[in-house]
Amino acid sequence: MKTYKIACIPGDGIGKEVVPAGQEVLEALAASGAGFRFEFTSFGWGGDWYRAHGKMMPDDGLEALRDQDAILFGSAGDPHIPDHVTLWGLRLKICQGFDQYANVRPTRILPGIDAPLKRCTPKDLDWVIVRENSEGEYAGVGGRAHQGHPIEVATDVSMMTRAGVERIMRFAFKLAQSRPRKQLTVVTKSNAQRHAMVMWDEIALAVSKEFPDVKWDKELVDACTARMVNRPASLDTLVATNLHADILSDLAAALAGSLGIAPTGNIDPERRYPSMFEPIHGSAFDIMGKGLANPVGTFWSCVMLLEHLGEKEAAARLMQAIEEVTADPKLHTGDLGGKAKTADVTAAVVSRLKNR
Ligand code: ATP
Ligand code: MG
Repeated sequence: MKTYKIACIPGDGIGKEVVPAGQEVLEALAASGAGFRFEFTSFGWGGDWYRAHGKMMPDDGLEALRDQDAILFGSAGDPHIPDHVTLWGLRLKICQGFDQYANVRPTRILPGIDAPLKRCTPKDLDWVIVRENSEGEYAGVGGRAHQGHPIEVATDVSMMTRAGVERIMRFAFKLAQSRPRKQLTVVTKSNAQRHAMVMWDEIALAVSKEFPDVKWDKELVDACTARMVNRPASLDTLVATNLHADILSDLAAALAGSLGIAPTGNIDPERRYPSMFEPIHGSAFDIMGKGLANPVGTFWSCVMLLEHLGEKEAAARLMQAIEEVTADPKLHTGDLGGKAKTADVTAAVVSRLKNR
């Protein structure tokens, strides 16, 4: 029987609760006659590791992950460690080390979820945001000089390369082409950022010629936020830079009802390295250790993981089980206005997988 090696990195805060829940659900799926099995390896990297070793993960950590089929990640963030240290020391180290340049973020209003836009039905909001995940505003290029002095300067250079933009644009057009509406919105800010974003627009136009069956348009990122609220049904697949897509996808998650539901995949489309799947929420220390975290974002990330492994049927079965559970308000966690606990939601998904 096919065995998939999955690395689990719970990280910090509620990551330590939702990743084991995700593992439980994947185990249940495999045990219910899916035709494959999983071999999980857990890595205790994150804030605790930092306190013991002075870094978020070991220097040779990427080597330990390299032969895995996929990575299930929780979150990196600790109130006692600066955010840029936790982010760059773990999550971004993996994303960049494994050139996971496409960050895919589906958003839908799942059954039973009370989403904030009252005029918007589930069929009006079905998006996938593709985030450039390797360069742009988060390239890590920049520096500080004359620290503490009145003439101090600090820069974060947004760096885009032709090769980097071409590959994410091609990925986004291909993804749009695979969806029923075959529609892509290229998000830009080329009115104000007149170098890199103009190149972004030029490359979008050039790549669009390879995909004559995809309808596409351009939208400025500021106007795009208004359009997401006012005309959600006019959008389907979106592609945006690292920073812009980061912001747009939090808005998307909120419009779909909760940050706790939203999944994401950090993908290496060329499959040279393992790809990494995670809920988009952070460590949420305010609710950690109480069993209150909504595990649905992690479960949906497991669906993306299965799709990436080519296990489409198992992915669809898990998604159906998730949707049956969200449809029942008794199984909603606090972020959705309910009283259910992480363990209740997990057990409900597991039992639906078993009874099939
Ligand atoms: P980080 O600094 O790691 O990003 P954070 O404290 O900013 O973490 P987020 O996870 O980004 O927290 O989420 C913001 C708030 O949304 C949390 O404080 C929490 O109350 C709520 N929240 C996030 N994820 C979940 C979840 N899975 N279940 C329930 N509530 C959640
Ligand atoms: Mg946060």
